[in-house]
Amino acid sequence: MKKDLTLSSLLLFFACSAGFSQTPDSTAMKFAPVITAEDAKKHLSVLASDEYEGRETGKEGQKKAAKYIADDFKKIGLVSATDETYLQKFPLVLSTPAGADLVIGGKKYENNKDFYVLPYGKPLTMEAKRILFLGYGISDAKYDDYKNTDVKDKVLLVIGGEPISEDSVSFISGKKELSDWTNSYRKKSDLAKEKGAAALIVINENFAGNLELMKHFLASPSLKLEPDTSKEKTVGPVPAEKDQKKKLPQVGISVKTANEIIAPENLDALIKKIRSTKQSVSFEIKSSFELAVSSKEDKIYSENVLGIIKGTEHPEEVVFITAHYDHLGVRDGKVFNGADDDGSGTVGVMEIANAFEKAKETGSAPKRTLVFMTVAGEEKGLLGSSYYTNNPIFPIEKTVCDLNIDMIGRTDDHYKDTVDYVYIIGSDKISTELHKINEHANSTYTHLKLDYKYNDPNDPNRFYFRSDHYNFAKKGVPIIFYFNGTHEDYHQETDEVSKINFDILAKRAQLVFYTAWEVANRKDRIVTDVVQEKEKK
Ligand SMILES: [Zn+2]
Repeated sequence: MKKDLTLSSLLLFFACSAGFSQTPDSTAMKFAPVITAEDAKKHLSVLASDEYEGRETGKEGQKKAAKYIADDFKKIGLVSATDETYLQKFPLVLSTPAGADLVIGGKKYENNKDFYVLPYGKPLTMEAKRILFLGYGISDAKYDDYKNTDVKDKVLLVIGGEPISEDSVSFISGKKELSDWTNSYRKKSDLAKEKGAAALIVINENFAGNLELMKHFLASPSLKLEPDTSKEKTVGPVPAEKDQKKKLPQVGISVKTANEIIAPENLDALIKKIRSTKQSVSFEIKSSFELAVSSKEDKIYSENVLGIIKGTEHPEEVVFITAHYDHLGVRDGKVFNGADDDGSGTVGVMEIANAFEKAKETGSAPKRTLVFMTVAGEEKGLLGSSYYTNNPIFPIEKTVCDLNIDMIGRTDDHYKDTVDYVYIIGSDKISTELHKINEHANSTYTHLKLDYKYNDPNDPNRFYFRSDHYNFAKKGVPIIFYFNGTHEDYHQETDEVSKINFDILAKRAQLVFYTAWEVANRKDRIVTDVVQEKEKK
């Protein structure tokens, strides 16, 4: 609620001084229609075809997509921001899981058969002389396993889920519906980490089923930037992301394995005891614990694609229009084409670039420089944009804003009856002027419903932190994130070109075009004026 106070007073002020002309800009209106559904479809039908293999960062399909975009930038007349390739190359470390050893009380268990370890990023070895059985590993008003127990540096063994009564009523929720202690896979490990535990072993009643579900995930390599800049401090006046805690090593085991570890105790008996007394049960197990996780590391490269149109009056001031062109690749032989995520944003950027270039060719070049950048590594943790903002080609101080497009070709469940909407996220967080410009562009030209539902950084979906604009915001650059919301095909192999609504894609891209047009051509550079209180940890 702190945001509203600051903002409403600022909005009042700017309502009188934003300085928009009353008449629509006829030049902008002449070139916005260069952005067409047909053109967008032509490009997307290539980029989101099986031939591009789901454009996974570092893989062949991604490089092919980079080439396609770079060739198009060149063809339409954009100038490269780097060399003749239009690419900004960046180094990554690819870590491939190479096995894990678990020995408890002298008995060796087999990885991905008797146990699994949740990805911990780095290789790891740890040892402990004892294991602490700690009930369900829950700390709640109605039931608390941590009460009067010091878990610091200990390896905890806990039962998955939460305690329930004979008639299936949760001790925590007081209803049949289970709480987040069951539903969130992170809640217990976050708490254990917070309490200073060294590792968490979770007893999994449906161990075999879960192992099957996670098979792909457990074998997946992870990517990070080299050097890793993801922990970079926020410098801009921007809501700071809550500290993403380093994850605790978490081992999943079956009931059978658990019974071997806790013998002569027995899990069923312990659950019954907790059920009848409504009290936690905890005890020390005099078994040693050894865990070793290894991975193979390779250095690879990926690429951002950049094309520019130089400004005529303030060429040093740059306006970014971005989208990520990478997606999830191929899994179990299925190509994840990512037509909406974020093929739609990628072709949106290409179309907007084309419209500005056509305007330039007929004597209406922008006053400020426009940078069209499609980035890779987004799906792996916003890596391409993190690399760019930490290795900028144009000074960050001269970067006017980033208009980022991530998914604009579909509609979500909320908008079943109307497609003429777009979610706007972050527009008011750094520059009130930018927010007003976007609203004015929409009310003058595109007439979409601008939905601010996800604009709150505290929204549980955390969309504000989940696409590439965030790396610009972290540096204090004003941003807008254009988004259609998630849908049933989000991050599924069914995110296909056939499901894209190209008319609405083009219309949303036109809104970005009009906003960019105003930002690039107005007399004065937009100012940064909103200073946010840092989010509480
Ligand atoms: Zn995605």
